[in-house]
Amino acid sequence: MSLKRKRIVVLTGAGISAESGLGTFRDKGGLWDEHDINDVATPEAWIKNPKLVLDFYNKRREMVVTSKPNSAHLALARLEKHFDVQIITQNIDDLHERAGSSDILHLHGEILKARSIQNAESLYHIGGKKIKWGDLAPDGHQLRPHVVWFGEPVPKMYEAEDIVREADIFIVIGTSLNVYPAANLIYVCSPGIEKFIVDLNELTNVKYKNLQHLKGKASERVPELVDKLINGKKQN
Ligand code: NAD
Repeated sequence: MSLKRKRIVVLTGAGISAESGLGTFRDKGGLWDEHDINDVATPEAWIKNPKLVLDFYNKRREMVVTSKPNSAHLALARLEKHFDVQIITQNIDDLHERAGSSDILHLHGEILKARSIQNAESLYHIGGKKIKWGDLAPDGHQLRPHVVWFGEPVPKMYEAEDIVREADIFIVIGTSLNVYPAANLIYVCSPGIEKFIVDLNELTNVKYKNLQHLKGKASERVPELVDKLINGKKQN
């Protein structure tokens, strides 16, 4: 007899990768502190100073390839042996992939991929390579990082909403839930299901029933939560 496995949907943000050395928006002294987001992560910034934008993402790409998944990423991969797990990440790094998770939707793109400024569909895996001004895609247009800039549409949002609607358990990790439309995903899931938020800080902007705040470092709280879910399942 086969029982349907419970579906766990996990929404992650910059906080899950912070302990892998990749700065969040809020960290002091990180890349985001050195630059105004408006100067490096918007379509207007690209028009005004594309070399600065490329340089910013080249540095971030370099940091991603030298970083490693931490115990939070690894715990989520472990969860797959027991549940159907779908990860929706706002992160552009590949740490969930390298930890071993298999079902990952990148809402805001992937820094290790590039695309032509004229075609968002054809993606080129560039790994840790820099994109320089003058580097062209096969269609003859300039390459840009495959990331969603502020002010650009989020094409995978509908797919993400469909995934969240089907969740039996919803876990949010390391996101301030300040960046829209991703922040709306918390309100899409079925109201009765179990919901957990792991974050260093209490998120005062989230008002929801059946929600457990697990305050602390993702590297500690996520493995604890994963163990609890696995043990709870074994007892059922
Ligand atoms: P955010 O910086 O707005 O919020 C990060 C959240 O993580 C905060 O609530 C903070 O309290 C929490 N946090 C920080 N360190 C933590 C830790 N060790 N353990 C648990 N929680 C921790 O980030 P966001 O909500 O993801 O939105 C920022 C946007 O910037 C997203 O679109 C994201 O794609 C992008 N971003 C991505 C990366 C990356 O790919 N690694 C890094 C920075 C920003």
